[in-house]
Amino acid sequence: MEKFDNIKFDMNINKTQQTSAYKCSKCNDTGWIYTENGVMPCSCRAEELNRRKAAICGLTPMLTKKTFASFDLTHYEEFLRNEKGDTYRKQAKKIFDICKLYAEDFAPQKTFRGLVLQGEVGRGKTFLAAAVCNRLIERGYEPYFMVVPEFLDEIRASYNNGGEFSEAKIMDKAMNAAFLVLDDLGSHNFSQWTIGKLFTLLNYRVNHGLPFMITTNLSIGELQQLLGDRIISRIAEACDFYCLQSGNDIRMIMNMKYMGE
Ligand SMILES: [Zn+2]
Repeated sequence: MEKFDNIKFDMNINKTQQTSAYKCSKCNDTGWIYTENGVMPCSCRAEELNRRKAAICGLTPMLTKKTFASFDLTHYEEFLRNEKGDTYRKQAKKIFDICKLYAEDFAPQKTFRGLVLQGEVGRGKTFLAAAVCNRLIERGYEPYFMVVPEFLDEIRASYNNGGEFSEAKIMDKAMNAAFLVLDDLGSHNFSQWTIGKLFTLLNYRVNHGLPFMITTNLSIGELQQLLGDRIISRIAEACDFYCLQSGNDIRMIMNMKYMGE
């Protein structure tokens, strides 16, 4: 597993292969700016380093933008209420605060409990999971953001091109990451093979006190039915459950706004 410490800084990767255009016009991709007072490191060095850290942690450039500072609570209605009587906005604010505090307080070997965010598609679950990871990276930790269906596909693909060693490598990263996000649990098939892989992963993490966060579109009852009691009881043992509700699919609203501009 690649560690942050092992990132070798090489500005040459900034150079575009096909054209002579520079990615950074401030330093012409040299990483240095020449001033009257001497040579200064260019800001693109830190940006490039951050981009590579995020990639190691499984965060796409889109996901690196999902931070607590950019989370918009106005997407959650004040006129709709959950079964406890809280408005959707109050409920979302509560879950937002829990996630933020979690990311601030997180410490390996001290944080054992995890979070499950449940809710329909486009309710901001993935956003908050990415925000937790982005904050942990800022604090110097190395979380791993894993999209469950992609993770399972990656293991399946490893049988054709790498054999057991590759599978072990893929599993090892998910098993031993300081903090793991399992994004979109349940949007995959539920074969015995799939259930077996997920159980191996979650059982290991719970036994080793390694926390994780799950996002899922399915209700807990549906997960129990589809994944079985063994997995659900391990998750329930290790996590607190929260449900994010909103009247609309937030991603759809955001795209519509975008198109209207
Ligand atoms: Zn630069």
